[in-house]
Amino acid sequence: MSKLDSPVRYIKGVGPGRAQALGGIGIYNIADLLNYFPRDYEDRSVITKIRNMAAGNKYMVVVKYTGRYKVLRPRRNLSITKIYTNDDTGYATLTFFNQSYAAKKFTAGKYYIVYGEVQISYGELQILNPECKPINNDLNEHLHIYPVYGLTKNITQHLMRRITKEALNYVSEVDEGLPRDIIERYKLIDKKNAYINIHYPENVHYIAKAKRRLAFQELFEVMLYFNLVKLRRNKMNKGIPFKSCGENDFIDKLPFKLTTAQHRAWEEISNDMESDKQMNRLLQGDVGSGKTVVAALAIYKAIKNDHQVAFMAPTEILAQQHYDTLKNFFKDYRINIGLLTGSMMAKKKNKILKDTYENKINVVIGTHALIQEDVKFNNLGLVITDEQHRFGVHQRSLLEHKGRNCDVLVMTATPIPRSLALIIYGDLDISVIDEMPPGRKPVKTYLVNKDMRTGVYGFIEKLLKKKEQCYVVVPLIEDSDKLDVVSADQVYAELKKEFAGYRVGLLHGKLTQEEKDSIMNGFKSGAINLLVSTTVIEVGVDVPGATAIVIENAERFGLAQLHQLRGRVGRSEKKSYCFLVLGNNNAQAKDRLKILAQTNNGFKISEYDLKLRGPGDFLGFSQHGLPSFKTIDYIDNKVLEETVSAVKYFINKYGIYSQTTNQLMSSIKEKWSFSDEEVTLN
Ligand code: ADP
Ligand code: MG
Repeated sequence: MSKLDSPVRYIKGVGPGRAQALGGIGIYNIADLLNYFPRDYEDRSVITKIRNMAAGNKYMVVVKYTGRYKVLRPRRNLSITKIYTNDDTGYATLTFFNQSYAAKKFTAGKYYIVYGEVQISYGELQILNPECKPINNDLNEHLHIYPVYGLTKNITQHLMRRITKEALNYVSEVDEGLPRDIIERYKLIDKKNAYINIHYPENVHYIAKAKRRLAFQELFEVMLYFNLVKLRRNKMNKGIPFKSCGENDFIDKLPFKLTTAQHRAWEEISNDMESDKQMNRLLQGDVGSGKTVVAALAIYKAIKNDHQVAFMAPTEILAQQHYDTLKNFFKDYRINIGLLTGSMMAKKKNKILKDTYENKINVVIGTHALIQEDVKFNNLGLVITDEQHRFGVHQRSLLEHKGRNCDVLVMTATPIPRSLALIIYGDLDISVIDEMPPGRKPVKTYLVNKDMRTGVYGFIEKLLKKKEQCYVVVPLIEDSDKLDVVSADQVYAELKKEFAGYRVGLLHGKLTQEEKDSIMNGFKSGAINLLVSTTVIEVGVDVPGATAIVIENAERFGLAQLHQLRGRVGRSEKKSYCFLVLGNNNAQAKDRLKILAQTNNGFKISEYDLKLRGPGDFLGFSQHGLPSFKTIDYIDNKVLEETVSAVKYFINKYGIYSQTTNQLMSSIKEKWSFSDEEVTLN
């Protein structure tokens, strides 16, 4: 065991009370302390002359005590001590509150190094509650960049600094973690140095170097892991070799012709399924590109090969929709389809569970309910998750392990840049549908201010008159005093009045499954003309008759989310519209949303989003099920690209089963608590 694993109590000055407080912020041992990175820094490496100081900033200054001071007592419980000092450019008053003996620490004519915030009142330059130290010999020993840590109860900044400094005494125990040649090739500082400099940087340049090294480390580990999992899995022949079974007849009977991109994706999937290797494939395609029918083909093939299929979707609405769609696709075949959701009545649910277990059901479509322990299959051979970005890696694997050596297909519309895909979907092969079904027109998108809402709804009425349908999306269900957002209830009430001649529906997550079904069926059949909804319709919902979507308080949504929402329309050959209604006149918010009006290409939008927010935000999504990066705030595009290249270099050089690779893999597995049993096989 390394000394880094010793409990924080090991550190001088940390007793049971403080150890408990530190535990509250996830610090249990010395390694945790080293990994407790500062949230900011205070630059006390330069000395400023009094003449150059401005109010509101913090400075480090060297002053001489004049010997004069004053103690004021403006009211009970308040004393103000003023210590008069100067340097060769001016005068500064050190002002202490409720420290009436402060002057005792100063000796007339002596020099002090002082750090604090400057305030100027009535021409008097004051430094408030400063930290002061007498200067004995070397001034340099006082000049540093100080870490600023996130704190917790009973742990002061001063204490935190002291204990991280103590923890750094053990830094020699830190493993280098990367092969020497990677460190040299990418000009990284070594890891021990990175830890020292992230806490007590030598200078500002070293902060950047330390951040880069630490981010590189984490990215490299996670990416290398996923890549090796994939490469190793591909070496093994333990998948189910499905046979070809007349899929072309099925394709010929479809109500439409597959696009070239759909054909290509299907071919890739079909090849994977027929091979004796396990399929682990991501099907990526922008909203509306037609992923479901490709999934249906895979389902057909698996079932024809006497295997069961599990098909998971993130919402009940979407699961129900897939159920209906597959029923329709498979109506001429003897295929039994089951639907399983969380809010289902026990009796119905038990029947589905029993039939699934007894192999009477061929394909079960469901929500998260599918991964519950009581769901057991007889002969599961294919697992599909739709809108994978809404699930975690973990959930995907739970489902997969309900069968033996299942083929796995995951689908997503979230078009993430390649470098990020390598992390988030690093263990998957990727097929892309980069083409829309014929006749689709880009959704015309408008950014409008709140005061133009009347005009927007006037336009909507014209569409409704033509028997076209419309969504109105609202961020929150209930009225909220604090936020200036229009609630679904309120908008529903308003629009019901406004559109008295039409059927207006309201949909949100708090309805029961039956209520949701009845509303969605009403909207699908055209009985409901206008649907007011929360974001429950964000993913997957397919109602080709809808040609317009109004998104209220659009500034409250992310770009990717808005793109998804917009994808609810433009699903037929009719012209479609999207109105992004801004809840306020914030120019910055408006600027951010402009890209949506400029392009319908999800990939471009996501690249733009990446530039705007940085990769940290993307990777931070816990829904990806990724382990959380400690260096999340340090990850930028540059280090991301570098790591992608480094992983490639590493695998080329060391191979997938060498001793170096194996050693690194086992330490990565342990560090990140990855539990992929296949990885250790060789
Ligand atoms: P997504 O990729 O967003 O999941 P869907 O699978 O829901 O898209 O498909 C969107 C719509 O396009 C559906 O109504 C579907 O029936 C239709 N569609 C899919 N493929 C084609 C095609 N090749 N030609 C015409 N319509 C298609
Ligand atoms: Mg879909």
